[in-house]
Amino acid sequence: MAEENVQPQQGAVARLAEIRGRIARAEADAGRAPGSVTLVCVSKTFDAEVIRPVIAAGQRVFGENRVQEAMGKWPALRAETPGIELHLIGPLQSNKAREAAQFFDVIETVDREKIAVALAKEIVALDRAPKLYVQVNTGAEPQKAGILPGQADEFIAFCRNDLKLDISGLMCIPPVNEQAAPHFALLNKIAARNAIRILSMGMSSDFEIAIELGATHVRVGSAIFGERKMSSN
Ligand SMILES: *Cc1c(COP(=O)(O)O)cnc(C)c1O
Repeated sequence: MAEENVQPQQGAVARLAEIRGRIARAEADAGRAPGSVTLVCVSKTFDAEVIRPVIAAGQRVFGENRVQEAMGKWPALRAETPGIELHLIGPLQSNKAREAAQFFDVIETVDREKIAVALAKEIVALDRAPKLYVQVNTGAEPQKAGILPGQADEFIAFCRNDLKLDISGLMCIPPVNEQAAPHFALLNKIAARNAIRILSMGMSSDFEIAIELGATHVRVGSAIFGERKMSSN
């Protein structure tokens, strides 16, 4: 009840500061350099007026899971503040590949041949190359997007060699009912053997563990903005 009397914006700014503090402590605890972990602030389902104070507080990197939603609210926010970096963290359909390649700075969800081929084509056509991460379905969950761990090396090689795509990162979303750590460790191993330096892993409930296991990017939504009202996956 008390929470509802708080201005949601002020709440988000205070929680952002708290999360930044926790990231800094986790970096230090893991013996990682200060600032080596990037906070991707997940703003899906939240309107521009809720996001704006978080930008004013200095946050520049944001994650959205739907192309259409992002294209609705971010042009105005980008026009107000230079230097915004937008990550697509939700599943991408190949008929949205052009819009995604045009609009996002990073696409974290490259997860199958069809989408990789579509992105490669659009990157040439648009002469614009967002950074690309491959999503790995570390838990091999049938309902979840991502390349299976056993097919990851081959898929990354296909993207690089056949499509000339620059794969700079890996991303995973561990199964909800399992310990996240083994999934983070697996993603780290796949990255190491493919010479990939960016690891996008860890969300509100487990980003500190992810940092301990090598995350370079953590994707935190509800711990900053509060619970989402709409379903978002
Ligand atoms: C929604 C979402 C997040 C953020 O989750 P929280 O638990 O709210 O921090 C991170 N990554 C992906 C892919 C998401 O869809």
